[in-house]
Amino acid sequence: MEIKKNELLKNHTSFKIGGPADEFAEVYNEEELKELIEYAKNKGIPYTIMGNGSNLLVSDKGIRGLVIKLAKGFDSVEVQGDKIIAKAGILLSKLANVALENGLSGLEFASGIPGTLGGAIYMNAGAYGGEMKDVVGKVTYLSNGEIKTAEKGELDFGYRHSRFSGKEDIVLSAEILLEKADKTEIRAKMDDFKERRCSKQPLSMPSAGSTFKRPEGYFAGKLIEDAGLKGKAIGGAQVSEKHSGFVVNTGDATCQDVLDLIKFIQDTVYDKFKVKLETEVKMLGEF
Ligand SMILES: Cc1cc2nc3c(=O)[nH]c(=O)nc-3n(C[C@H](O)[C@H](O)[C@H](O)COP(=O)(O)OP(=O)(O)OC[C@H]3O[C@@H](n4cnc5c(N)ncnc54)[C@H](O)[C@@H]3O)c2cc1C
Repeated sequence: MEIKKNELLKNHTSFKIGGPADEFAEVYNEEELKELIEYAKNKGIPYTIMGNGSNLLVSDKGIRGLVIKLAKGFDSVEVQGDKIIAKAGILLSKLANVALENGLSGLEFASGIPGTLGGAIYMNAGAYGGEMKDVVGKVTYLSNGEIKTAEKGELDFGYRHSRFSGKEDIVLSAEILLEKADKTEIRAKMDDFKERRCSKQPLSMPSAGSTFKRPEGYFAGKLIEDAGLKGKAIGGAQVSEKHSGFVVNTGDATCQDVLDLIKFIQDTVYDKFKVKLETEVKMLGEF
């Protein structure tokens, strides 16, 4: 396992933003993960976990200590009847395809979310009426060096929230509980969601997905558009011309550009509509 020094995190985030991690390693199995955590503890440095980096805004100054990416390799998968057991680093697109190939329905909503299973459980990711909470069963996780399990009822899922949010525990694997269905129907649903995503979202530009959570009773994108902010840019950060709920990187955006634009959007929307927009994107690093 290689530990890289000063690895630029912009190369590991979908926003293409983020300064250096003092140390950075991709782990391929649980033993390596435990070793790395031990290494960080012995060295007295903090560690940060990331998945596919698709919901992250990383500081221009980067992240101090060790960044551990649970990625390729940490992605084995096993189908047992209506259940899939998968490691946390598997991409949701891959997991949804495994479900399709086995005629299992329930994960179609997740097929276009560009995250890992671990990141999606942490966030309780959702789309098109589905959420991870609908399909996740028992979760195995690492807590203070010990491997533990949490049953479905103990996962504390809420809107873009789970028992792992803001905590140090690391999701290692999970059971995905699905239902047998016709493969043609599963594929048709996935194609429909893909079509809707491609036509509405700025998928060709770097972003971290929806910048803001959905405020109760409103849609963030609609509020931002109604506030006249479609296309509003600060430095290289811009409110997408295609979907105002997305801040996109037009090429050379810094984290500071995005933060300034987020603040400008929040202030403008609050002035006009008295609605507070909260970020969905997770900020990591030295601010
Ligand atoms: C174009 C685009 C479209 C998107 N569409 C959607 C959508 O429709 N719905 C939606 O909900 N989201 C969407 N997202 C956001 C994002 O893909 C999801 O939040 C996804 O679940 C994040 O997973 P990740 O692996 O990339 O996590 P990361 O961004 O790497 O991390 C997110 C958080 O999870 C933590 N984390 C990651 N892995 C683990 C682990 N194994 N154990 C413990 N903590 C962990 C990290 O520390 C961090 O706090 C979109 C993003 C993009 C760029």
